[in-house]
Amino acid sequence: MTRTTEWAYVALGSNLGDRPGNLAAARKALGALPMTTLAAASRIEETAPLAGMDQPPYLNQMVLLKTALDPHTLLAACQAIELSAGRARGERWAPRTLDLDIVRFGDRHLDQPDLIIPHPELSHRDFWLRELAELQPNEL
Ligand code: ATP
Ligand code: CA
Ligand code: CA
Repeated sequence: MTRTTEWAYVALGSNLGDRPGNLAAARKALGALPMTTLAAASRIEETAPLAGMDQPPYLNQMVLLKTALDPHTLLAACQAIELSAGRARGERWAPRTLDLDIVRFGDRHLDQPDLIIPHPELSHRDFWLRELAELQPNEL
C-alpha cells in the first residue's frame, strides 16, 4: 500500500523549565516519528503569554514535517511527546513545559471534537503567521 506524504506544520511552545531544551527535545522526537522527516524549523521567538494570563513568557517555534502519518496519529504522537517532556495536563492555556499544536496538515480541513485543522487560532496569532511565512518556501 502506498501512503501519501503530506506537509504538516506543528507549532512548538514552552514556558516552563528548560525552554530551549524542551523545544530541542520536541524537534528531535518529531523527526524520529515513523514515516516522518523534519524538513525545516523556523527561528525561535519569545512571546508574551496570551492576553490576560499571568505566566512566564513563551519560546515559540514552528516546524515543517513531511509525513505519511494521518492527522490523528500525529496528534496522538504530539501528546505523547508533550507527556515525555513532563507536561502535566491541566487547564487549557495553563503554563507548560511543552505544547505541540498542529497548525496545518496539507490542504485538509477537519472539524472534530479533538482535532481542528487548520488550527482555529491561526489567523489570530501573529507569531504563527510569521513562522509559517518563514517556512513556506520550503514546501516544494
Ligand atoms: P490552543 O489550542 O488555543 O493553543 P492549548 O494548546 O493550550 O490551546 P491544549 O490544552 O494543549 O490547548 O489542548 C486542548 C485540546 O485541543 C487537545 O486535547 C486536542 O485534542 C485539541 N485540539 C484540537 N485541534 C487541535 C490541533 N490542531 N492541534 C492540537 N490540539 C488540538
Ligand atoms: Ca497551544
Ligand atoms: Ca495544545
